Amino acid sequence: MIEIDGSEGEGGGQVVRNACALSLVTGEAVRIFNVRGGRSKPGLMRQHVTAIEAACTIGGGVCDGLHVGSSEVKFWPGRVTPGEYRFAVGTAGSTGLVLQTVLLPLLLADAPSTLVLEGGTHNMLAPPFEFIERCFLPVVRAMGGHVAVRLVRHGFYPRGGGRIEVIVAPSRLTPIERVARGELTGVSACALFAGLPFDIAGSEIAVVRDSLGWSERECFVRELPVDQGPGNILLLEANFEHGTEIVSGFAQLGVRAERVAKTAVGRMRGYLASDAFAGPYLADQLLLPMALAGGGVFTTVRPSEHARTAAAVIERFTGRRTRFDPVEKGVHHVSVG
Ligand code: ATP
Repeated sequence: MIEIDGSEGEGGGQVVRNACALSLVTGEAVRIFNVRGGRSKPGLMRQHVTAIEAACTIGGGVCDGLHVGSSEVKFWPGRVTPGEYRFAVGTAGSTGLVLQTVLLPLLLADAPSTLVLEGGTHNMLAPPFEFIERCFLPVVRAMGGHVAVRLVRHGFYPRGGGRIEVIVAPSRLTPIERVARGELTGVSACALFAGLPFDIAGSEIAVVRDSLGWSERECFVRELPVDQGPGNILLLEANFEHGTEIVSGFAQLGVRAERVAKTAVGRMRGYLASDAFAGPYLADQLLLPMALAGGGVFTTVRPSEHARTAAAVIERFTGRRTRFDPVEKGVHHVSVG
């Protein structure tokens, strides 16, 4: 049984999700102690419990210590069974984070699956749906992954109620290289909102136009039906020949719209100024599929603690080592395996 100290490195929920996915793919049982030991409120939260439950369901796994607040879990994987699954993440837990747990085991299975995930589709500190659809999955497809996603209904934190559908077909993943991102082919800003005053979205777009100089044609506001709110997210997208980056600003009670927009603008500026292929979030999310593809190479901005922690967990299960080598202007060359 592989033993993982969940307080090491980033010490968050990603350790748990990656460990379950790797356990299902490799067949190695795992014990995680000090679960989310790096967080102010350690232990499993509802959304992590759902992610592990999902791993148990698709993989015939058995888990010990699976409850909210638990600081130690043991997970024994079974055989991954493709099929039709529906997982509801209580409260507005992120659907994207549950997908992170089950996607790779299902892709590597021997028959197709369909997944319905209900919960949050736009949560702070989790990949928004558009990021999964346009940044992460295109790279997985380039490795040979057959996967399609559809947003049926938006769900904003804290209310949730969103729904995404995912279709997965058996895939053989192969290593790819994403060192150069190529020329910039387009940018766009979308202020998405539901059940909140229009002015919030309007102010966000004004900041983007002023600060980044993006044109009226490149910036838009999208109002969703009131019952999908309240919620607001600003998505800034940059398309390059070989990939896409989306940075987001998530509205929070008591934080002015201008401030939300300025944070997102600052992130987009940082990314545009570098020559890296992957932004910080895409970097940590690409390590698992690349390791399971047998390797891969890409460039990123300064690697986050999330990325280094994911690399450490992956190495424990697969023996594949990830190197992060600085090259120039803050760009790092990442090679998996
Ligand atoms: P914890 O509460 O312990 O932080 P968690 O399970 O919510 O646990 P993390 O361990 O912090 O989350 O992992 C968050 C994941 O979400 C990472 O894979 C990270 O790349 C991704 N993520 C966070 N914010 C964004 C964002 N704005 N865009 C894309 N991906 C994001």
